[in-house]
Amino acid sequence: MRVWGIVWALVAILFSFSEAMDLQKIARNIYVAKGTYGLPSKENRGFMSNSYGILTREGWIVIDALSTPELAREFISELKKIKNVPVLYLIITHYHMDHYFGAKAYKEEGAKVIAHKNLKVFYEEGTAQMVLEGARKGFPGVFDDVEPVAPDMVIDSKVKLRVGRKVIEIIPMTPAHTNTDLVIRAEGYLFVGDLVSYKRIPFLGDRNVKTKRWLKVLDTIGKMKFKKLLGGHGDPMGREALKWTRDYINFVRTEVARLKDEGLFVDEVKEKLKESPFKDSKMYDVFHLRNVYFVFNELDMELE
Ligand SMILES: [Zn+2]
Repeated sequence: MRVWGIVWALVAILFSFSEAMDLQKIARNIYVAKGTYGLPSKENRGFMSNSYGILTREGWIVIDALSTPELAREFISELKKIKNVPVLYLIITHYHMDHYFGAKAYKEEGAKVIAHKNLKVFYEEGTAQMVLEGARKGFPGVFDDVEPVAPDMVIDSKVKLRVGRKVIEIIPMTPAHTNTDLVIRAEGYLFVGDLVSYKRIPFLGDRNVKTKRWLKVLDTIGKMKFKKLLGGHGDPMGREALKWTRDYINFVRTEVARLKDEGLFVDEVKEKLKESPFKDSKMYDVFHLRNVYFVFNELDMELE
């Protein structure tokens, strides 16, 4: 009996190890915790996006907060195992829950939270709280500990953040995926949030999405110099990801516009576009038809 007790204890320990957040080093001073693909669930604890830590002599700078304070605290504790220095800044690439909802942990840590100025509006007008309540209903047990927080510093034009001898550029690229998109340049890398993805369907259904502007943003990023693009989901990306993202957005826009012009209703358009050249991509079943639906409506009222 005692032997089994020990065996189970070992299994429990192994299991808890496999559960621990695993950080990967992707460049000299850059580390990532990489979430899984999918929607939030009790099993994945909402860990379906990336958080990056940039190490400076003065302390850590973090890009994106993950979905919950619990996950964010784990990430912070893993960073401190690498180097036990303070977390100075959290920069949020956009207001979606898997990038913003862990932010409370950074306030507890004494870090300054930096976000686009529209994220402050999102917070102040109570929209963040509404989205949270929706998320709690939609994904029970994942977001209990979340509390939206206000950014300490807001961005509405390009700024240079100086940390010791390092300069980090924060560049608003809104509206595109949302009206809060920031691109961050550090160590020669570009942190692009969900503006760029590769073989993972981007979400085109945010209330503030502007897909036409998004295509322009992709061109802008394409003209910039970078070693790799570091996104909100998945692995580091090269220029092929810009093309892939552009191709997908273009595909949805062009096909929806064509079928709409033929006089088809939204459900008929969805039926026609159920299959597409992108159907082997990750998150296809979750996002693609919703994207068709949203772009159908977006095209009704699009500014030139
Ligand atoms: Zn997003």
